[in-house]
Amino acid sequence: NEAQERFIAQNPKSKAIHERATESLPGGNTRSVLFYDPFPLSITSAQNATLHDADGHSYIDLLGEYTAGLYGHSEPVITQAIIETTKKGLNFGSHHEDEGRLAALVKQRFPSMELLRFTNSGTEANLMAIAAAKIATGKKKIVVFANGYHGGTFLFAAGKNSPINVPHEYLIATYNDLESVHALIREPENARDVAAIIVEPMMGSGGCIPADEGFLEGLRKAADESGAVLIYDEVMTSRMHSGGGIQSQLPVDMRPDLTTLGKYIGGGMSFGAFGGKRSIMDIFDPRRPDSIKHAGTFNNNVLTMAAGRAGLEQVFTPDRAQQLHAIGDKLRKRLQEIGRGTLMKVTGVGSIMCFQFTQSSLDRIKSHNDIADSDATLSGLLHLFLLQRGFYIARRGFMALSLALTESDLDGSAKAVEDFVVEHRQLL
Ligand code: PLP
Repeated sequence: NEAQERFIAQNPKSKAIHERATESLPGGNTRSVLFYDPFPLSITSAQNATLHDADGHSYIDLLGEYTAGLYGHSEPVITQAIIETTKKGLNFGSHHEDEGRLAALVKQRFPSMELLRFTNSGTEANLMAIAAAKIATGKKKIVVFANGYHGGTFLFAAGKNSPINVPHEYLIATYNDLESVHALIREPENARDVAAIIVEPMMGSGGCIPADEGFLEGLRKAADESGAVLIYDEVMTSRMHSGGGIQSQLPVDMRPDLTTLGKYIGGGMSFGAFGGKRSIMDIFDPRRPDSIKHAGTFNNNVLTMAAGRAGLEQVFTPDRAQQLHAIGDKLRKRLQEIGRGTLMKVTGVGSIMCFQFTQSSLDRIKSHNDIADSDATLSGLLHLFLLQRGFYIARRGFMALSLALTESDLDGSAKAVEDFVVEHRQLL
């Protein structure tokens, strides 16, 4: 309460901006994830890794727009690409060269994506990938994982409380639990009707829970056994390793049939993509008389295509990607060390991580079941504490590092977390 009262006192302008917005937006909000009590800060501008708010405070941005902000806020190559593109005109209602060039760059990094198409968001990419799987197999059921996230229209995990749910026939398995998948796909009423298994190769929004060794390979075999299409949702994880996602670490024959992407790959503009095996993606070839129509006014919008292309070509090279991955691993280990012997655990892979306040030991966190006791009050306390110290993370403890962060930013954030643990020891 004390932290919250201080927050209110220190942010009168953000408070007023939020209150004004509540007159036209429900709760002043148009992206549920961005609301937190008592009101969210109103950010007015940002450069590199620094955010500035309406009340004149600055924050080091550790949230990185939930991974879409990989390039930071004023990466010169990206900025230049956007400025130059706007001079040439916006959205022509036509094909243009950058589409094919961005697609080729994506394909280079994700060789399992033999053919791909663009969308405006990761959510749409998943809608399309699932549709493609259903068409390709002629089957209906979709294996998903409890607490998985594939976009705001797939709230299967929220069950009855969520009317916003594309009404597929979901079979909900447990992450990192192959038996739970086998049990579902072998049930007589499902056995011949599984169109797809869709999985995040690291569960992102559900708590940054990495896939166990063997889990992804097991899913490949399960998909083959049931004749289902294996879809990797790498919307968040596409930045991993040298920029080819988590699938880049698997043998070629263990990779998915379809992959969905989003977030940073559009250079920070709205973006999504889905693609994979030619035999599946060919159904979208408009030269075919029986082709499946896939529309979207902004699928090939020139800003996304140009910014995305510039970013992959010139900025987020495989070396840079590998470096960022290593920086993330190092920071997470340090934070884990700080939390040793307390409830504070830090999960994740590479540059994506999440604080959890749970009794489970780190190596025991395999699915949502193992963090069911997560204490949201402690996450909220950490969030307010870090804001007070000038570090911006998600209320639920999520962080995604950007290329703009300096060593001293990261060092400062670790020190702030250390102080949090020392000051709140009795609660942890
Ligand atoms: N899939 C995953 C794994 C995500 O993390 C997200 C967004 O956070 C999405 C899909 C949806 O992407 P978008 O917000 O671009 O619709």
